[in-house]
Amino acid sequence: MTGAKITHFETHDVRFPTSLSGDGTDAMNTDCDYSSAYITLYTSSSLVGHGMTFTIGRGNEIVCQAIKEVASRLVGRDTEQLFANMGAAWDHLLADPQLRWIGPEKGVIHIATGAVNNALWDMYARARSKPLWKLVVDMSPEELVSATAFRYITDAITREEALAMLKEKEAGKKDREAKVKELGYPAYVTSAGWLGYSDEKVARLTKEAVSAGFNHFKMKVGSNAASDLRRGKIIRSIIDDPQYLPPGSSGHLGPSVEGKNAGPTGAVLMIDANQVWDVPQAIEYVKSLEEIKPWFIEEPTAPDDILGHAAIRSALKPHGIGVATGEHAHNRMIFKQLLQAQAIDVCQIDSCRLAGVSEVLSVLLMAAKFGVPVCPHAGGVGLCEYVIHLSLIDYIAVSGTMERNVLEFVDHLHEHFLYPCSINSRGRYNVPTNAAEGYSIEMHKNSIAEYEWPNGSYWVEAKGTK
Ligand SMILES: [Mg+2]
Repeated sequence: MTGAKITHFETHDVRFPTSLSGDGTDAMNTDCDYSSAYITLYTSSSLVGHGMTFTIGRGNEIVCQAIKEVASRLVGRDTEQLFANMGAAWDHLLADPQLRWIGPEKGVIHIATGAVNNALWDMYARARSKPLWKLVVDMSPEELVSATAFRYITDAITREEALAMLKEKEAGKKDREAKVKELGYPAYVTSAGWLGYSDEKVARLTKEAVSAGFNHFKMKVGSNAASDLRRGKIIRSIIDDPQYLPPGSSGHLGPSVEGKNAGPTGAVLMIDANQVWDVPQAIEYVKSLEEIKPWFIEEPTAPDDILGHAAIRSALKPHGIGVATGEHAHNRMIFKQLLQAQAIDVCQIDSCRLAGVSEVLSVLLMAAKFGVPVCPHAGGVGLCEYVIHLSLIDYIAVSGTMERNVLEFVDHLHEHFLYPCSINSRGRYNVPTNAAEGYSIEMHKNSIAEYEWPNGSYWVEAKGTK
């Protein structure tokens, strides 16, 4: 089967001035302008594909430059031939020896590859008039395995093992799809606990989140232990108090929160240090926060330090606190080792730090094999739009479970997307259902025109007022 040819592409360096509001602030990233290195692939037909990767400001133009290098490998290629074997298409994107030298499979070139691979998946889903998650869960186990990046992970999972796992999940797919459409996918809130917010703002946002039906909350920590303890107690005093629950709700106690240090209303608190500590410091600091009963500490130390994470996990285990990481794990081999070393309780994939859907699939399969729940990272522009698709793939086709998973939700910048994610009255993600939305990452043209760096109307005006 032949299809349209990929003819050319466009990139955009889009930056939102989130540093002005304190949104996105944590112990490591204090001054972020949430940014999108955005690409649109065009074809000889009307078919297009949109993709992006996320950065937090300066340097976004470097990623856009790298995207151009990677995307040029697709120009002239037949779309149907690419779609027929997305694993081979992924290998092709990674196979330029000169570009490989500036990775391999890490840093700018890898996140740029993520943007391009995601754009190709978006195009594939649009070509089949399905949202991306539906495209993937409707694949046969053989098709899904052939769409996955397998190089360097077969010591942890072979294609044959993956195929057997997927076949085992085939029978329940329809039921799970119906169930998640009805209930929504479980979510948690980060927006209440950014470090740059005042205590009053944290308290107000926490109350709002509880009344919106959420029962998992994340707070940023790591700049000052006394202040973290104070803010943690403020959050716990609200989430543990039944008076703030939505009308008619009796809380969320049950199997979904067992082992998560839930309070009397079934509320769960997670803490996130964004890599600020050395290993011994991480252990001592987190022990000092035991009173606020976190489920896990996220990114306690350097994201590449697999054995460091394992040491922290084993030291905190007697205190009932787990370890989560992954938003800065730059490829599937890091996840493989985190799993092999028993270094994590929760696997936090990032939709565009990994090199797109094909590499995400390899991590979903490994996490399912090791029995570790996947709770994707989504603190950034466009990430919530992306990750609901990945969690749906995980639940419906791969792990078969969502009961203990929670997907990050950050409530800002969704208005810039044609198909923004949404949350239902139970505090869960709605399932994307629009046949035209692909991977849900298409940005409004006027948002690009306003926020493109440095000549978008917002930035031109901002310079004029300085
Ligand atoms: Mg984080």
